[in-house]
Amino acid sequence: MVAMEKTAEIIIIGGGIIGASIACHLALKGAKDVVLLEKAMLGEGSTAKCVGGIRTQFSTEINIRFSLESIKTWDLFAEIADVDLGFKKVGYLFLATTKDEWTVFQANAHLQRTFNIPVELLSPEEIQHRWPYLRADDLQGGTFCPWDGYAGPYEALSGFIKIARKKGVKIYEGTEVQQIFQNRGKITGVRTARGDVSAPIVINAAGPYAEEVGKMAGAEVPVKPFRRQIFFTTPFPWIADPIPLVIDFHRGWYFRREGQGLLLSGPKDDFPSFNVNVDYGAMVEVAENSMFRVPVLEKAEINRGWAGSYEISPDNHAILGEVPGVKGFFLANGFSGHGFQHSPAVGRVMADLILGEEPFMDVSCLSIERFRQGHLIQEPLTAFKE
Ligand SMILES: Cc1cc2nc3c(=O)[nH]c(=O)nc-3n(C[C@H](O)[C@H](O)[C@H](O)COP(=O)(O)OP(=O)(O)OC[C@H]3O[C@@H](n4cnc5c(N)ncnc54)[C@H](O)[C@@H]3O)c2cc1C
Repeated sequence: MVAMEKTAEIIIIGGGIIGASIACHLALKGAKDVVLLEKAMLGEGSTAKCVGGIRTQFSTEINIRFSLESIKTWDLFAEIADVDLGFKKVGYLFLATTKDEWTVFQANAHLQRTFNIPVELLSPEEIQHRWPYLRADDLQGGTFCPWDGYAGPYEALSGFIKIARKKGVKIYEGTEVQQIFQNRGKITGVRTARGDVSAPIVINAAGPYAEEVGKMAGAEVPVKPFRRQIFFTTPFPWIADPIPLVIDFHRGWYFRREGQGLLLSGPKDDFPSFNVNVDYGAMVEVAENSMFRVPVLEKAEINRGWAGSYEISPDNHAILGEVPGVKGFFLANGFSGHGFQHSPAVGRVMADLILGEEPFMDVSCLSIERFRQGHLIQEPLTAFKE
C-alpha cells in the first residue's frame, strides 16, 4: 500500500462528483498539498447511480444560476478535460396535470425566461402533436427546454479526477475518514485507518454520509439519505428519437432513452435510510406509471434496475461553505438530487471559498446558518428530483 502524506493543506472527504470537482477546481487555482480521501472507490456512491440529468428548468434563482454556470463547463468539457461527456441535449419536458401545477409551471417559466432560457409553454394539443406516444388528455400543459438533457456522470467524474491528478492532487481510495480533529474551534486534521493526516482545512463532500462526517467535527449537518430506484428496459424501438427526458410531475415519474432501451423511474422512499437494494416488487408501480403516460410501454420489458441515495436537505437546496465556530471545516452537501449537474459550479465556488477569495457567484443563501436562522429557501411546489 502506498504511504500516505502525514500533512496536507486541504483534505477533501469523499470521491464522488462533488469531491472530484472541488479537487479539480482547487488544483486549477493553484492550491498545493490537496489530498482527497475516498472510503470505497471513486464515484462508487450516489454518483454511480445518477441518471445524468442536466436542466435549466428550476424554480429558484440559485439553482438556475448553478445550472447556467455548470452548462458552460459541460459544453466545453471535451476541451477542458479531453473527455466526451455524451451530453444529449434532447430537452426536458415537464407535464402538469392539475391547475395548481400548471400555474406554478407558468410562473417557473416566467422566472427562467428572465435568464433568457428558451423555455416553451405547451398546450396538451401541442404536446400530443410533438410527442404522439404521450397520453395528454388529462394534462393542463407542459414546459419544454431544448437546452436540457443528460450526460455521463462517470465521464464527468473521470475528467475532474484526471485534471486534479495531473495538477498534483493526491487521491487515496479505500481510505475511510474515521475522526476529524480540532483544537479550540480550528480544524487540525483527520484520522483514517491508514494513519493520521494533519491539515487546517477539511471539506465534507461525503454525499449521503454528510451528516455522519459532520458529526465527526461536532457539526450538525441536516442531510438525510433517501432511496431512489430506476429500471431499464430491453431495446425499445416503438418510440421515435429524439425522446426528451419526460417528467410526469403529478405522478412523480420520469423516463428517457438509455442506449436502445428506456430508463424508467421507480418509487421514492419517503423515509431516510442507507438502503440501496432494488425492490423488484416496485416494478408494478413502475409499470402502472409507465403505461398510464406512455401506453405503448405495455410492450416494454424491464430487465434490470438499481437503487441509490439522494442526499436531501430540509429545503431541497445545497449546503455550502464554512461551518461557523469550526474554522477550516467546509460543507458541500445536500444537493437533493442535483449534485451531478451542478458539480462544475459547486466545485468552482467551493474552491473560491476555501482559498478565502471572493466567490465567483453569491452562495450566501446556501450557508448552513439558514436553518438556525429560519431562512430556508422556498420553492413554489415541492421540488421534482430526477
Ligand atoms: C437514482 C438517482 C438518480 C439521480 N439523478 C440525477 C440527475 O439526473 N441529475 C443530477 O444532477 N443528480 C442526480 N442524482 C443525484 C446525484 O447523483 C448526487 O447529487 C451526486 O452524485 C452527489 O455527489 P456527491 O459527490 O456529493 O456524493 P457521492 O457520489 O455519494 O460521493 C460521496 C463519497 O463520499 C464517500 N465517503 C462517505 N463517507 C466517507 C468517509 N468517512 N471517508 C471517506 N469517504 C467517505 C463515499 O464513499 C462516496 O464515494 C441522482 C441520484 C440518484 C440516487
